[in-house]
This record gives sequence, structure tokens and C-alpha cells, in this order.
Amino acid sequence: MKLSLSNGLFSKLRIDANFAAVKQLGFENIEFNMKSIRKEHDRDVYREQKALAASGLNCLTLHSAILHVKDPIEVHQAVYYGKISLECARALGVSLMTVHSNASKKMPRNLRERCLNEIFNEEIKPFAKKLGIKLALENLSYTSTGFGKNVEQLEEVLQVIDDGSMGITFDLCHALETRHVESLLDKYGSRVCNVHMADKSHVPFTKPKPELTAFLTRLRRYGYDGPVTLELSHKTPVQEIAKSKALFDKLLSDF
Ligand SMILES: [Zn+2]
Repeated sequence: MKLSLSNGLFSKLRIDANFAAVKQLGFENIEFNMKSIRKEHDRDVYREQKALAASGLNCLTLHSAILHVKDPIEVHQAVYYGKISLECARALGVSLMTVHSNASKKMPRNLRERCLNEIFNEEIKPFAKKLGIKLALENLSYTSTGFGKNVEQLEEVLQVIDDGSMGITFDLCHALETRHVESLLDKYGSRVCNVHMADKSHVPFTKPKPELTAFLTRLRRYGYDGPVTLELSHKTPVQEIAKSKALFDKLLSDF
């Protein structure tokens, strides 16, 4: 498994400073979170591309910009966010993009299905395919405005959007918060291609905990060998990030 850091927690910094902060902590790999880009400047992707090359960091995955649509009138906007994220993934040479369902949990089922179809089947999936980028659907928390926090909800989404190629981004923080770690692993363990790693409330793990080692052990049993992406609250003090890195440097060498 490869340790990685989501650069979303430094999203208030300009991109060079953002990457420098990641490097200063000793990380080699990142997940690029689209929070770090202003949506109104599409050509920013070239700037990010240059900054990444200059930083020497490896970008393993990209977290899409996302709108949880409440009404079909907003579909075009969610499509725009998804496509500019794919453009950025291409510029950064990334082949895996994390997505949410893009559907608000408040939308009725029939509209949800229509929006999922229009966003993914008609627009984002064909574009991702053209660029050779795999999509990985993330499990959400109960605090999210989006739909897709447990197996039942994710199955409903996958029934509309999955053609057998959709991967899963397993967010351990969200699964701990919703208490669905076991059921999500039972269902999707073999399809995981990215892990978002944090304790509840996106607080970093700084000491081994039974639920953490149990999770890593089960993932390993499924043959998981991909990124373990620390996805932390932007309020996390630098010392805590460093402690978490030290913990995972040690833990992951055992897996
Ligand atoms: Zn996440």
C-alpha cells in the first residue's frame, strides 16, 4: 500500500506553497483535491501541471470537484465540475478519479435516477473513458448533503451508473461515522481502488487503534495494494499530520 496525502487541507495556499507544504512533511505521493483550483479559471490546469512537475511529487489520484444536485436544472453544472476535474487529472497524468454520486440525498428517487443517468452515463463516463481515467465512487457520511452513505444507497447509484468498470474509494472516516465499515467491506472489499484515511471528523490517526488495524488487515486480505490517502480536516495542526505520517510509514510497512 502507498501512503499519500490529500492536498485539500492546504487548499487556502497557492498551488506552489500547497505542494511545498506537502513536501515539507516528507510525503512523496498526493491526491490532488479540486478544492485547490478556482472553477472559473479552466486554464489553471496548466499551472497545476507545471507546479506538480516542479515539486517532484507523484500524483496518484484526483478528487473530483462535486455538486450534489437538488434539481435536474443543476445537472449541467455537475457535469462541468466533473469534466474540468477530468481535464485536470489528464494534465497531472492521473488515471484514477474519486467521485461522489453528485445527487443530493434530498432529491426523490425518480429524479435521482434521471440525474445520475444524465450526469454519468451521458457525460462523465464517456469523457473519462476517452481520457483513459477510471472512476471510483466514494461512500459518504451522514453529514454529507450527497446520496450514498451505505450499501443500500451505493447499490442504487451503481445500478444506474456502473457498467462493471466503476471502482470504489473507501472513506474510513465516513464508514466509522455511519458505522458501516463491515458491511461496506463485505460488499466492496474487492473493488476498492483508493482509501481515504482518517478517524471520525477527519481527525488523523496518530496511534494504532483496533478498528484501524482490523480495517487494514481486511483490506490486505482482499489483496489491496493501492493508495492510503490521509484526508484530514484543514484544522489539523502540522505536528499531528507528521505524527500520522510516522504511524502509517510504520503500519504500512507491515501490510
Ligand atoms: Zn473522502
